[in-house]
Amino acid sequence: MAPLSKARTALAALREDLAGDVFAPWDQGYDEARRVFSALSDRRPAVIARCADETDVVRAVRFARDLDLRIAVRGGGHGLAGAARVDGALLVDLRRMRRVSVDPAARTARAEGGATLGGLDRATRPHGLAAAGAHAPAAGAVGLAGFVLGGGTGRPDRALGLAVDDLLGVELVTADAERVRAGPDEHPELFWALHGGGGNFGIATALTLRLHPLPGFSLTLLLCPPWLGPALVRAFREVIRAGPDAVGGEVTYPTAGEPVYGALLTYPGGQADLRGLAGPLLALPHEAELTGADALRLLGCPPGARAHWSAECPTALPDELVDVFCARARALSVPGGSRHTLFPLGGAVATGPVPAAYPVPYRDAAWVVRPFAQWADPADDERALAWVRDARADVRPWAGGAVCLSLVGDEGPERVRAGLGAGNLLRLEKVKRRYDPDNVFRCNHNIEPV
Ligand SMILES: Cc1cc2nc3c(=O)[nH]c(=O)nc-3n(C[C@H](O)[C@H](O)[C@H](O)COP(=O)(O)OP(=O)(O)OC[C@H]3O[C@@H](n4cnc5c(N)ncnc54)[C@H](O)[C@@H]3O)c2cc1C
Repeated sequence: MAPLSKARTALAALREDLAGDVFAPWDQGYDEARRVFSALSDRRPAVIARCADETDVVRAVRFARDLDLRIAVRGGGHGLAGAARVDGALLVDLRRMRRVSVDPAARTARAEGGATLGGLDRATRPHGLAAAGAHAPAAGAVGLAGFVLGGGTGRPDRALGLAVDDLLGVELVTADAERVRAGPDEHPELFWALHGGGGNFGIATALTLRLHPLPGFSLTLLLCPPWLGPALVRAFREVIRAGPDAVGGEVTYPTAGEPVYGALLTYPGGQADLRGLAGPLLALPHEAELTGADALRLLGCPPGARAHWSAECPTALPDELVDVFCARARALSVPGGSRHTLFPLGGAVATGPVPAAYPVPYRDAAWVVRPFAQWADPADDERALAWVRDARADVRPWAGGAVCLSLVGDEGPERVRAGLGAGNLLRLEKVKRRYDPDNVFRCNHNIEPV
């Protein structure tokens, strides 16, 4: 711990030097600045540096190193991992760094470290282009860097592949405040590690991504009463099994409003083609069918409530698991925007341009079950957390051991190992030792330097 006088002088210098804003706990704006998606995460960083540009990020890292502070990074504020270590850290907040520029001829986008999935989508669409992941319905406010570097997956990924497979370059500020550009030919080991290793190696100030021609996605959301849940999940499974790889979507059971099951299908083709593929679902006596923006509105999760979630990746979806999933969905007792969701992987997720080459081992899993609890009253904390835990435990008999790290919080080192791939761990630890030997970046799914 640095002496108080040194800390005061350093803080005054940081306020002076930063083009962005600095918040200490006694400053107006500190409480707003430390707020994240889940109100359950009530963390108190020592200082928040809301950086305006890369130079600010370099200055903030120097400040933290000078005072021997660990560094937490905030992109979109939708993550869970490492939250407990944010107390007393320097929080580098990138939400002012959200600019996205598109090169339509090269079919690439450069997005700053605080850009969101929605922001990227809005920037690429007018050019008739799309980024994998950014096309994800209902995850528009999620941070792009947290999502991509953590190997995240969106619902249309069976058509476009994982966003991390489209990563062409990362501009990074490392633990010793060096600016580094990682790409296939520059810092190639670091570049490899950034494909799933998350925020372990530095602060990404910009990502360059390959774009796809906008595939003209159609989507439809069928709503069914709760008693039809198991039939709906089976029909959804059949549509995924029999349809082309590019069909994606999810089945979800939300608690907000009337209890109802929703089956979302996404397809890079016309609405008529999609309805043609949805036969087994359309044959069920559904209450409503929503398309486009109406469907997305129903799937959105507003920020600010208490929230917790997890995920398991079953290798198959037998009838027994369908019934267990539906029973757990109906046992959701916390009021609010909670939901129990399952969605398929496979398709372009499994094939990828370089299967198995990156530390994203869950790409071979068949399904993801995702309990997501959201509630308002602290008195419901225990019940909500227990529901998420139990929902995970339900799936374990069918889980192949793969973990989609972007969808889980702090669940122990074994889960982090599984999320990165035990076979990748030593290589990742070596990269960590080279770029962050003191483990300054440890408010995350942490990789320790060997
Ligand atoms: C409502 C909701 C919907 C979601 N939907 C999906 C989904 O469909 N698919 C999916 O895979 N995940 C989903 N997630 C999870 C989300 O992708 C991950 O939690 C992701 O890490 C969030 O990134 P963030 O920047 O928003 O969060 P933050 O909390 O800001 O960041 C999370 C972590 O990412 C790292 N990080 C973020 N930005 C940077 C950066 N610029 N440089 C270095 N490290 C950085 C840091 O380690 C940080 O601790 C969802 C989460 C929520 C709350």
